Amino acid sequence: MDLIRLTESAYHLRGGSNAGLVVEAGRAVLIDTGLDKDTAKKILRHVDALGVSLAAVIITHAHADHFGGAATVAARTGVPVYAPALEAAVVENPILEPLYLFSGAMPPAELRHKFTLADACKVDHLLAPGPLNIEGISLEIMPAPGHAPNQMIVAGGGACFVADAVFAPDVLAKHGIPFMVDVDAWLGTLDGLGGLDGRYAAFVPGHGPATARIGEWAAQNAARLREIRGLVSDALGQTDDLAGVIKHCADQLEMTLPNLTLYLLAQTAVLACMASLRAASEVEFTVEANRLRVAKGSRA
Ligand SMILES: [Zn+2]
Repeated sequence: MDLIRLTESAYHLRGGSNAGLVVEAGRAVLIDTGLDKDTAKKILRHVDALGVSLAAVIITHAHADHFGGAATVAARTGVPVYAPALEAAVVENPILEPLYLFSGAMPPAELRHKFTLADACKVDHLLAPGPLNIEGISLEIMPAPGHAPNQMIVAGGGACFVADAVFAPDVLAKHGIPFMVDVDAWLGTLDGLGGLDGRYAAFVPGHGPATARIGEWAAQNAARLREIRGLVSDALGQTDDLAGVIKHCADQLEMTLPNLTLYLLAQTAVLACMASLRAASEVEFTVEANRLRVAKGSRA
């Protein structure tokens, strides 16, 4: 994990999953903790090398690659952990992540790896939108739902840590179908992010490099979400089952879904698009002869 200075008092901890630091008068707030214990130890070494001590940890959203190191950071430093409501439930009960991916059934071994099942970490404070001052460190918390149900992003020290509200262009290209739980909420989040250009010197996404301007990336992400929602809608003209819709979307994007984890992540994203289409009366769910049928709705 590399330490990159963004401003006088904000740092980007760049790794497979990014983290951030906002520093003031020898104290620091850590934003996200990386994937696991090893990443957490690297982060803490960087904190030591800067000659500061942690005042708190903020978790933006409860995906294992962002909070997997939280238990280690909390155990080693004793600092309080902040997370948004709902996300906090997963941070404290990480089995919920593979459990929801597996339709609420206890997940099989294939879903019990560190990318989907993190170490549990107690959450001390629920994070809410608005200004937050932790030991003299001034932060602004903003809602950013869509990729996760109650993700929040954190600005401080002249930088804005946007977590997985925006994927950098190469990361977006690699993902094909980005994970999402609410496509309409995410489009609203992206619309708001476009208006933050100029307010912060640097924007740090959850994966990939920082950027000085977030608007263009937000627009690219929004275009991809609309494209996937459109692919789901198109698929309904060709197939009437969920598996067929997932296959249509992946094939059209020239993606390969190589294992159960990535298949189920794509399935959740497709279902998020279907929920959006359902809200617009463009898809109907029926069960016929004990078979789930997804078909174009009355307005499609
Ligand atoms: Zn995420």
